[in-house]
Amino acid sequence: MTGTLIVLGTAQDGGNPQLGSRGRGRPRLVSSLAVVMDDGTTLLADCTPDVKAQIAHLEAGAPYRSRTAGNAVDHITLTHAHMGHYTGLVQFGKEAHNAKSLPTWVSPSMAGYLRANQPWRALIDDGHLDIRSGFGPFEVGPGLGLRLVPVPHRGEFTDTVGISVNDDVLFLPDIDSWDQWPSAEEEIARHRVSFLDASFFSLDEIPGRDLSQIPHPLVADTVERFGHLAAERRLILTHLNHSNPVAEPDSPQAQAVREAGFEVAEDFMSIRLAG
Ligand SMILES: [Zn+2]
Ligand SMILES: [Zn+2]
Repeated sequence: MTGTLIVLGTAQDGGNPQLGSRGRGRPRLVSSLAVVMDDGTTLLADCTPDVKAQIAHLEAGAPYRSRTAGNAVDHITLTHAHMGHYTGLVQFGKEAHNAKSLPTWVSPSMAGYLRANQPWRALIDDGHLDIRSGFGPFEVGPGLGLRLVPVPHRGEFTDTVGISVNDDVLFLPDIDSWDQWPSAEEEIARHRVSFLDASFFSLDEIPGRDLSQIPHPLVADTVERFGHLAAERRLILTHLNHSNPVAEPDSPQAQAVREAGFEVAEDFMSIRLAG
């Protein structure tokens, strides 16, 4: 069995626009993916502050419907504990959706953080989330495998992983630098499709903020390093900060990225998984 990957959001943690900003290009939800298998089993990769709108989109797009246990989705996996990537979990507790034993596939560090801190701890203690911790590979369901790939990223709360689905699609929304991750090229090369952190295009993008405090590879660096892989694979830029000019399809920066063989992710684009 195979399935379809649906991009549920493509913005950095605060969305586009962020609170109090005008943003660039059209509005974007916070970066997240869903994998909908052909039997309806649905995995949510990262659980964002926009999760209600994102799941509403899945439910509106039948046959993208979850089938088990009355849960809105059947499985969740998370990259790390920065606000854009997991705080949507509050919607799965008893005040809201009241999920039942929802399998939640996370690294040991992320599992420890959720077990140790409220309100996440209550979601586990009250049986809403069923934590499955490790790095895999996990056999999540028929035809659906996961591998959590540790990557370097600011670790105030937890470590950070990229998410590999069936060794076919790699979701890598946050990383500090390619230099700090020696197996970056090897991992990207082994996937047919990779979604890559493209938070910032240039260092002077946010007046008054020191971007060295929030390190990410700049888009030009990513394009230069991995451009030679683009002919054989889909390399898709995501997790765009609200200031990033590639968010505007007609900008020179977006055109340059496309000419180098990369794509810019768009909310609700879909990709068929390899069979
Ligand atoms: Zn992020
Ligand atoms: Zn982060």
